[in-house]
Amino acid sequence: MAATIIDGKSLAATLRASQKSAIESLAARGARPGLAAILTGNDPASRIYVRNKARACEDTGVRSEFHEFPEGTSESSLLECIGRLNADRAVHGILVQLPLPPHLDANRILAAVSPAKDVDGFHAVNLGALLQGRAGFVPGTPAGVMRLLEHAGVALAGKNATIVGRSTIVGKPLALLLLQKDATVTICHSKTADLAAVTRQADILVAAAGHAKLITAEMVKPGACVIDVGVNRMPDGKLSGDVDFAAVKRIAGSITPVPGGVGPMTVAMMIVNTVRAAELSLG
Ligand code: NDP
Repeated sequence: MAATIIDGKSLAATLRASQKSAIESLAARGARPGLAAILTGNDPASRIYVRNKARACEDTGVRSEFHEFPEGTSESSLLECIGRLNADRAVHGILVQLPLPPHLDANRILAAVSPAKDVDGFHAVNLGALLQGRAGFVPGTPAGVMRLLEHAGVALAGKNATIVGRSTIVGKPLALLLLQKDATVTICHSKTADLAAVTRQADILVAAAGHAKLITAEMVKPGACVIDVGVNRMPDGKLSGDVDFAAVKRIAGSITPVPGGVGPMTVAMMIVNTVRAAELSLG
């Protein structure tokens, strides 16, 4: 039987609509949520991501602003901009679009963002809070994956959850969130000895490797829930996930598509975090 398709686009639209009344009530109290995005360099994908985020903000009633820096910009220019945004009471969330050009130290730039405005959840204070199970801003992609799993009614306690990819923005934080829900979590990476043998044990399989169609039907346990985080531009210009969707949907129990799965949820969670930051700013 074909897998159930988990529709991230529709869940994200519902989630964004659910934020509108909170946004209007914050606006009435003089704190309309505001998000500032910083884009550095010429990466076309980054430009599209920032534009999509700004559009989602406008649709939802979050004020958005955009700060653009050339490829060769200095660290001090970026730090100066972040310092101004940290002090600006109309800005509740600050996004530094990654990747940064190689001459810039991403950790040092991200560390300059006030943790109270770090709606991407990439600051060490917020990642540390996640590790300790305390409230902080959780990165949008892993938070979005958790919402998708909840929405799809996927049981997690006692289940084997395997993540392919160990980045700080997806794989590692997602592992912590799945652990909090009592899943038995395995993280795979490029040095994992027999990837297929590990993924075949997974009741929940999350692909976040950035490698088109890495996960084939033979690597999936029948009936598993497969979440595809990957976004890869194919030679024909189309997007592909990390999962061979056409083949895997015949064996999985449920699966997210690309596009229309995790991507829209990442944006929606960024809005949820920005609204929360604005609420917290009022004490
Ligand atoms: P990174 O490049 O930072 O991390 C990729 C991870 O995958 C690494 O841990 C790497 O292992 C592992 N990996 C790569 N190739 C293989 C392989 N053949 N077998 C097993 N593991 C492998 O990527 P990100 O975490 O930033 O992003 C991952 C994907 O998700 C990308 O396609 C990205 O575009 C997409 N993405 C999508 C988002 C969305 O909203 N939908 C948001 C963020 C990312 P190692 O550590 O050993 O190098």
